[in-house]
Amino acid sequence: MPSAVIAGAGVFGASVAHRLTRSGWDVTIVDPYPPGHVRAASGHETRLIRFAHGPESWYVRSVLRARDLWRELEAESGRSLMLECGLAWFARREEGWESESEEVLRAERVPVVRLSVDETAALFPSFDGDGLSFVLYEPEAGILRARDAVHALMDLTLAAGATLVAGAARPEGDAVLVKGERLEADRIVWACGAWLPSLFPGLVKLRVTKQDLFHFGTDASWQSPPVPGWVDYDAAAYGTGDVDGHGVKVAPDEEGPAFDPDSDPRIASSKVEERARAYMAMRFPALSEAPLVGARSCPYALTPDTHFIIAPHPEHDRVWILGGGSGHGFKHGPALAEYVEELLEGETEPDERFGLGEREPAVKLRTAGGRLR
Ligand SMILES: Cc1cc2nc3c(=O)[nH]c(=O)nc-3n(C[C@H](O)[C@H](O)[C@H](O)COP(=O)(O)OP(=O)(O)OC[C@H]3O[C@@H](n4cnc5c(N)ncnc54)[C@H](O)[C@@H]3O)c2cc1C
Repeated sequence: MPSAVIAGAGVFGASVAHRLTRSGWDVTIVDPYPPGHVRAASGHETRLIRFAHGPESWYVRSVLRARDLWRELEAESGRSLMLECGLAWFARREEGWESESEEVLRAERVPVVRLSVDETAALFPSFDGDGLSFVLYEPEAGILRARDAVHALMDLTLAAGATLVAGAARPEGDAVLVKGERLEADRIVWACGAWLPSLFPGLVKLRVTKQDLFHFGTDASWQSPPVPGWVDYDAAAYGTGDVDGHGVKVAPDEEGPAFDPDSDPRIASSKVEERARAYMAMRFPALSEAPLVGARSCPYALTPDTHFIIAPHPEHDRVWILGGGSGHGFKHGPALAEYVEELLEGETEPDERFGLGEREPAVKLRTAGGRLR
């Protein structure tokens, strides 16, 4: 039976652990914190799942596969994880991210429709389409219950016989050092999100930033579903309706300040809250006075080009690095795990795009980082 040690039980590590366990591997997972904890990027209540990725068809196909696997996970775990409430892209220009996405989505046969501002208004209890050229609507996209999904993955993985070690892992050659013990395995996967650069200084280059998001209290008309998720790519903002009573979510998506995911305080900035409020007042006027009911700060682990890192360690054949979620990785978790399994088994060659080398800033797969055009 092949063996693997996986450091990190965020969505990437938990998905790989779940996948390998199901394929008969002997799996040990190491994490200093409990799965789904608040410091991890995967530890929030919700994450958007959308198919649109601008010109990048690889990611579209990955989400198509992930969507099926999330549904399988729901059946396997008996939990409701994916809310297919649709997702609306607020396009500010005819030719931009949304029209590029539309072209690829149509080529990949992903359902997508162009809505007028008036048609979009029917999707939200309150909506002002000022400044929009059109709205690109993905009816089969929506929202994942993120923390629940990590719990589902880990519960099934552990029930299938994997071991969870509570402790901080450190690389030691091609092994893992945890609590003074050296763990060896056929394959080691480091999936430590925003912690990767400090574990592999000079090798894993990620910018770790503090991203604040806000929940506002509303009445029941704002529940998702049916209210769709939404993204304003050019204005760098996104959000959801109220999921499970947490309140409407609004997240300004400009890159935040550098952030230590272990020790920096998680107090959301009042300036970012003002931006969230201003956006909400502009786009969803009835919410302009909605009370703040929650705020969270989570780490982005950003590569320069927002492509993921899925790469072998340059000195240790059996060691792999998986991360660089770059603010858009969650939805891909189970599909990435399937791909990683093929890599670990040597069935496919690593793709240079996901390598550890230098990268040039390129089209952002998240949002345009605050450029208003
Ligand atoms: C504010 C925000 C909004 C986002 N929105 C979306 C979205 O809408 N849709 C989407 O698809 N994606 C979204 N993302 C991105 C997505 O959440 C991440 O890409 C994804 O969760 C990354 O998962 P991960 O497993 O790589 O990292 P994490 O979830 O951070 O997990 C890393 C794990 O490694 C553990 N670890 C750390 N150090 C060690 C060590 N020494 N030994 C062992 N374990 C260790 C940590 O405790 C943690 O559990 C968003 C991210 C943020 C921050």
